[in-house]
Amino acid sequence: MKDIIEQFIQICGSAHVIIREEDRLKYASDYTENLVFMPELVVIPGNVDEISAVMKLCHQYDITVTPRGAGTGLSGGSLPVKGGIVLSTERLNKILDIDQENFQATVEPGVINEVFRNAVEAEGLFYPPDPASKGSCFLGGNIAHNSGGPKAVKYGVTRDYVLNLEVVLPDGTILWTGSDTLKNSTGYALTHLFIGSEGTLGIVTKIVFRLIAKPPHDLLLLASFSDALAACRTVSAVFLKGVVPSAVELMEKSAMQLSAHYLNESFDFSESAQAYLLIEVDGFDPDKLMDDCAKISDVLDAFGAEEVLFADTAAQKEKLWKIRRAIGEKVKAHSIYKEEDTVVKRAFLPELLSGVKEIGSKYGFESICYGHAGDGNLHVNIIKKDMPEELWNGPHLKEGIREIFRLCRKLGGTISGEHGIGYVQKEYMDEAFSVVHLHLMQSIKKVFDPKGILNPGKMIPDDLG
Ligand SMILES: Cc1cc2nc3c(=O)[nH]c(=O)nc-3n(C[C@H](O)[C@H](O)[C@H](O)COP(=O)(O)OP(=O)(O)OC[C@H]3O[C@@H](n4cnc5c(N)ncnc54)[C@H](O)[C@@H]3O)c2cc1C
Repeated sequence: MKDIIEQFIQICGSAHVIIREEDRLKYASDYTENLVFMPELVVIPGNVDEISAVMKLCHQYDITVTPRGAGTGLSGGSLPVKGGIVLSTERLNKILDIDQENFQATVEPGVINEVFRNAVEAEGLFYPPDPASKGSCFLGGNIAHNSGGPKAVKYGVTRDYVLNLEVVLPDGTILWTGSDTLKNSTGYALTHLFIGSEGTLGIVTKIVFRLIAKPPHDLLLLASFSDALAACRTVSAVFLKGVVPSAVELMEKSAMQLSAHYLNESFDFSESAQAYLLIEVDGFDPDKLMDDCAKISDVLDAFGAEEVLFADTAAQKEKLWKIRRAIGEKVKAHSIYKEEDTVVKRAFLPELLSGVKEIGSKYGFESICYGHAGDGNLHVNIIKKDMPEELWNGPHLKEGIREIFRLCRKLGGTISGEHGIGYVQKEYMDEAFSVVHLHLMQSIKKVFDPKGILNPGKMIPDDLG
């Protein structure tokens, strides 16, 4: 082992091989529940050649490698659950090129989502995918999870903006997966196989994104409802009116209250409110946006919204978005939680929310729900609080979670909309896929990683054989 550590140091430099336990601790957890898996070593390569050399060494000695971005994942994907090393991409943090003429950009995977968005916006361009964690998550992690965010409802998810990827395979081979063109009908779509593969097939080392023109105007409104299910029904009705908002976020009042409380933000919550809808429209024509808002207001009235607040100033808009974006983090400040990233056909959102609450009553858990309602994507935070450990990780609660996922399937949905499967959801994959389907996935994994050294213990259920 000493000799191998020496070789990692030769590749990355001694400052970038983390040996001391107190320094490794930072890489032992992410945002998933309270899970901690200590890596045996952390290596932080500075470029693709160093990553390739690290992978060659690990391949030679059968050392397991867990790729890591910013560690904001909610499914435990970056945790070294089978030991071995964590390979952090934090030093690959350069925006290599913004090609205004072709509406494209090439970046390294350790660039923070928001840093990239701001850089392209300074050039009049727009990169829409905006996970609520955009201030900290890396673009490489976004690729690995095919991340979404509030704007996905109008602009799509990460996948819709990726043209080409440079990846390092588990044996150290460096490969480009496609081409930098807007169209590509050449062979298997390897680029898209890597997107959403959660670091199990290769390590993404460069990304070529397509960009669009930045819409200069947006309007934001917040509506309160005394009936959370009426808020859910409103969502589909807005689209049926012919409006495509750039965000439709549902927040149970408890979610918003916790976020505002821990952020120290004042907000006048109505006594009777059960849930809130945050709706944004954006575009190039301010008159059209006013028309859209008028149509949305009609729908809100028809579905019994209590109060509708138009955010007049940039500061008001920022405050509302800040409260929305911080919910996940602030619920965690209140209690450890299990996050179920449920997604169904949009019109079935009311059935999903009411079903989740019924299942909660049956299995004895409290949930705080919020999410990207325009996509039918509801984050169900199951709250631990004082729940004893044996119940928290026991079969009873797992059966409750299974029931939630069965409901998703019944409502035309699946078990994760944007947070991935990782470590914590893999045992439920049989709710989403047949055995044939899971074996196909396992076979694909074996083609890329026959030794099973890259991010083992993720995505594919352990008992598949
Ligand atoms: C408060 C909060 C809000 C969030 N909001 C959203 C949201 O709105 N939408 C959304 O989609 N997600 C959201 N997330 C989840 C999370 O931020 C995303 O999944 C994000 O994409 C993870 O990026 P990361 O850099 O933190 O990746 P990590 O957590 O470090 O890793 C995630 C996975 O990616 C793999 N990986 C990382 N880098 C690479 C690479 N270069 N090559 C190959 N594999 C790699 C890891 O092995 C792991 O499997 C939120 C999380 C938090 C804490």
